[in-house]
Amino acid sequence: MQQVIDPVKNRLITVEEYIKEYAKNSLDNLDYTAPLMICPHCLNNRMKLKARSSINVSPYFVHPKNNEYCPSKILQEGIYLNCKITDPDVENANKLKKHFREHWKYYFQKIRNMVPYLRKEEFTKIIDISLRERIWEYKNVQSYHLPYLFVTLADFSIQHPNSYYKEDFCRSLHFRYWFQSKLDNYKDLINNINVLSLCRASYKLTEKQTQPRQDQLQKIQSFEIINDLMEQDTDKVSIHIEKWIEKYFEIKNWQH
Ligand SMILES: [Zn+2]
Repeated sequence: MQQVIDPVKNRLITVEEYIKEYAKNSLDNLDYTAPLMICPHCLNNRMKLKARSSINVSPYFVHPKNNEYCPSKILQEGIYLNCKITDPDVENANKLKKHFREHWKYYFQKIRNMVPYLRKEEFTKIIDISLRERIWEYKNVQSYHLPYLFVTLADFSIQHPNSYYKEDFCRSLHFRYWFQSKLDNYKDLINNINVLSLCRASYKLTEKQTQPRQDQLQKIQSFEIINDLMEQDTDKVSIHIEKWIEKYFEIKNWQH
């Protein structure tokens, strides 16, 4: 990763800032040891800078060897996928699905605020995965939790301009979302969701690459879990998107 928490300054710093601040001191004074950094995801406080290993891999921060679980180390799309649900709450799921059907535009807009350049196909893709993973059926899920849970289900890839989407409407970094926590399954995450924050990890990929590597984690953005779902400006959802998504519900036979 390219960003860690500096325990001295108590804020995120980049590799460049770290080198400027600390690596230079060790050249001047051989007894000097740079302070260890903190991982913003699992809060491990023994993070070190790994030097450039090849021309293609820039220096990046690494966890100590044999370190415990950290979401940033799980190199798979949808890092919490395939959790097995043990005691589904069907009644709550039906209530959530009804609310979603009625107010999907609020969910779309809320997710688009966290996932820049969200497309309608990406929205329905994560809905499909949420049904397969039975996210709706977990106990204690509230409607405003859903957008935060949904974005962790799949990656949001780099987009390339085409005849419909011009370059200004395309994503240039690869996004992956997780909760900044050592909890690794939806049941525990949902039970603690109000004290967690969500992280958007942005990766810079090469042209042919589809899956990111740890050293390519460029920057992170944190989102507090807040109940502002129904405050979204749904006028921003175009008629074109509306028609397409209404059709999706129709095909799924997902009724009001
Ligand atoms: Zn970590």
